[in-house]
Amino acid sequence: MKIEITKVTSWTDVLNAARFTQRLPLKSGEPSVKWKKKIIKAEHSPLRCLMFNIDFYDIPYYVSVHLVRHVHAQPFVSTSRPDIDGHQPSREEQRKTDPVNMRLFLNAQEIINISKVRLCNKAEAKTKIIWRQVIEELRKIEPELANACKPSCFYRGFCPEIKSCGLADTETFSLAVNDYINSL
Ligand SMILES: [Zn+2]
Repeated sequence: MKIEITKVTSWTDVLNAARFTQRLPLKSGEPSVKWKKKIIKAEHSPLRCLMFNIDFYDIPYYVSVHLVRHVHAQPFVSTSRPDIDGHQPSREEQRKTDPVNMRLFLNAQEIINISKVRLCNKAEAKTKIIWRQVIEELRKIEPELANACKPSCFYRGFCPEIKSCGLADTETFSLAVNDYINSL
């Protein structure tokens, strides 16, 4: 299993979307880290101009089915059709755990949104592990954005799932939330 993340657009696109709304002339450079943090924290619309490809290799088919539920990410999944790919077993023999490749073409806001549910301890175990790996990969290229990727309870103070995951009731939760707030 492997995850690769590439940026499709740049922070200059985010900056210029924001400047356009202010009737300011466009710029060619990247904004400062301080400015990036402000727009990530505010989740204002220019953040949607920061686009990524997240490429998953050899993830279980069922994990791809979980991730396609996030409808603001455009998914591309390797075909499982035996009639197209002669290497695939018949449909009757295929299992939900069979490996597939998946690309999510999505923006920074959608990464934050997916994290709210897939980092919760009620998320399916394998999907949660894989999404955590996504955030660790993201940290290598966009540390400020990775810091903002947290489960819903960090925003709401409780786990909103029908059966709570219990994270918000732990002793370490308030410390983790403080770290999160201080990182923004
Ligand atoms: Zn939870």
